[in-house]
Amino acid sequence: MTTESTSLFSSLTRRSFLKTASSVAAAGALGDSLDLLAQAAPKYTAILIPAGAHPAMRSAAEMLAKKLGLSADAIHESSGATSVSRGAIVLALKNVVTDGRGALASAIARDGYAVLAENGGVMVVGARPRSLLFAAGETHHWLDRATGTWPRNPEFAMRFAAHHADHSVAEQVAILGANSFIAQLHASVSLKDEMPEVYAKLSPAVQQRLAAAEADDMKRNATLVKEFHDADVEVFADLPYGNNFSRWSEDLYNAFLAVYPSAKGVPEEHSWERAALCPSDPATWKLFEAYVRECARQSQADGVACTFWDQFGIFCHDERCRKNGLDQFKNELQAAITHYYAAVQPMGKKLHLRTWSSGCPHWLGADYVHAPGYSNFSQSHYELWSRVINETPKEILIQTKVYHSDCEPDPRFSTLLGHCKPHPEIVEYQMVGQTIGRHYFPAATAAYTAWTMKKAHELIGAAGGAEITPGGTMQSNYDMYADLLNSVDIFAWRELTWNLNASVAQIYADWAAQMYPAQAAPHMAKAMLLSEEAANLCWSPLGHGSSTNSDFANDIERRETLLRYTNRYYLPEYAKFLEPTKENIARIVAEKQKCLAGIDAMLAELEAAKPHLTEAQAAEISTRFDWFREFAICNTALDVSLWRFRYLRAQAAMLTTDPAEIKPLAEAFDTVTQHAPKLFHYDPAQKFTCYDAPLGQLRTKPNLGSPLRLMHEIYTRSLAFMEASVGPDYLPKEFLRAEVQINIPTESQRQRM
Ligand SMILES: [Zn+2]
Repeated sequence: MTTESTSLFSSLTRRSFLKTASSVAAAGALGDSLDLLAQAAPKYTAILIPAGAHPAMRSAAEMLAKKLGLSADAIHESSGATSVSRGAIVLALKNVVTDGRGALASAIARDGYAVLAENGGVMVVGARPRSLLFAAGETHHWLDRATGTWPRNPEFAMRFAAHHADHSVAEQVAILGANSFIAQLHASVSLKDEMPEVYAKLSPAVQQRLAAAEADDMKRNATLVKEFHDADVEVFADLPYGNNFSRWSEDLYNAFLAVYPSAKGVPEEHSWERAALCPSDPATWKLFEAYVRECARQSQADGVACTFWDQFGIFCHDERCRKNGLDQFKNELQAAITHYYAAVQPMGKKLHLRTWSSGCPHWLGADYVHAPGYSNFSQSHYELWSRVINETPKEILIQTKVYHSDCEPDPRFSTLLGHCKPHPEIVEYQMVGQTIGRHYFPAATAAYTAWTMKKAHELIGAAGGAEITPGGTMQSNYDMYADLLNSVDIFAWRELTWNLNASVAQIYADWAAQMYPAQAAPHMAKAMLLSEEAANLCWSPLGHGSSTNSDFANDIERRETLLRYTNRYYLPEYAKFLEPTKENIARIVAEKQKCLAGIDAMLAELEAAKPHLTEAQAAEISTRFDWFREFAICNTALDVSLWRFRYLRAQAAMLTTDPAEIKPLAEAFDTVTQHAPKLFHYDPAQKFTCYDAPLGQLRTKPNLGSPLRLMHEIYTRSLAFMEASVGPDYLPKEFLRAEVQINIPTESQRQRM
């Protein structure tokens, strides 16, 4: 149900994006758009930067040179580079551009930039060094301009991104137009200085291991933090997920309890939440503060980022907590944030808080998932965070997912965004696979991002921020920046954070123009645009949810748990979509036909693009579109059949049935049986753009489970409902596909009847 996106990238090996990009220029990747353009029009032969320029400006110049196919020799330092010069791109900062250029400088807002083109040259003026990187990342907007000025200012003051270890920070700043990052800056906390009494309880072997690791971590962190500062951006260190201390460090947890046994929490019975520590015990907060402080120190970052959801870990129900209210989520959150802040504020570091609420409360096995903050049958999102919002220092940044349910295509809009003032608010786009399929398939979300970004901006204002986490859940070897399909989501996020009014069609067109040969681009833009609705219809039957990780549920119970958990319409007014009626079956049949028709239309666009694509592009896209089609055929058959099952179950509860349902159920059974073996066919030697290894060598094989078990259960249980009313002779033999699983009452049950 849950995911820890924070650790997505830690296992990836580092590759040079620019090297990758230039070597696959024809194959396309975000950032290499100008290789082809440069060959066509060698308009610029020099790039001028000020003498002693900030490293971010120098990186911008290097990036531009690479895009234009110029050698490093084409970059010149010039002490007076503040005027346009023929054949050159001049990079300058706003505060040094004066004579006669006041209007140009004053057109720049926040950390934006402005472009002045005249007399065969162009000058790019940035508010600050990183602004030139932003310009270098979107040359398609300005490099062809021959005259006039063009100001380019971001819509949000803050643009946050999750750091991706595969790419240099400067590249990510350029591609994303981002000015703040959240990164894995690992700390090896021993508490040697902070809590020597706890440290003393660690075994000598653990003490030695932590000391050695600390030295390595500090060194690695210093190098990475310098890379951020060289790109003129801030970086926040990701704290361990949630605040279950036993997950943060088992060694320290045990050592701590050996000294402070009264701090151990008492969990609530049957709760998904744990109670590693008791928030009413003062030692608990001494420990948290010490740990957070040590993480902040070792990270050497500008701030720390913390996440709260489903691993609160201090959901304690001992007598103390029940008495003072710390057995309530909203009070625990207020206490936790207050203490985290107390740890980092004196160090001059910022605190970034990631709120999260998702999914209806539900049972998961023997545990109850509380899902606080989702409003439906639990407290509202605002109520959950209200004490944090109103009682913690206003400089704490509050980031909230745009999705009200975190794992669905086309989910409802967050109910918390816009309600966290006076805190600065950030709207989060978790563009990892889980919201939109596993990134095996086309999974475009540009239209969704467009309307939600606009709405978020209205609610939180230009002083707020937007965040992106590009990546893939449950993927290995994956790089979304290099993905020839789903990099469109990164591209759209960047466009929209800099221009809320960018049209969706134009975004697809501009992105495709960068990725594909000119004659193929319009068709690929159309195919990806179509994929957005097709994916929504594939995974969201009548707006209800599927699995967090987009795979096949194994049985009906799991499928129905998912309907409850991910159901954005789990509100009384939407209950009509869940009614087990013929009308709703017809509705879902129509919806799934539309999904499959959308995929056919995507395939038609691919056929039109194919003659103009490279062989590798055509092979990859054909494979992935085929994967999507086969998955959708199985998934839509399952969803329709589930609605039939629900109808028959309701009929059975009324002691009747509808045997006409046997035919479509048998057909669905046949469809799934035929298509299940066709899922994820590939040549092991085939290499996708988004993976750093051939398909046969991926650590995680492309796979979303099997539809067979669920189909079998739906079919046989449906049959049993029918048979219970009509007896074994009535059902047409040609539609029998499996043994009917009738629960014949035992003798003792008969006697009870
Ligand atoms: Zn307690």
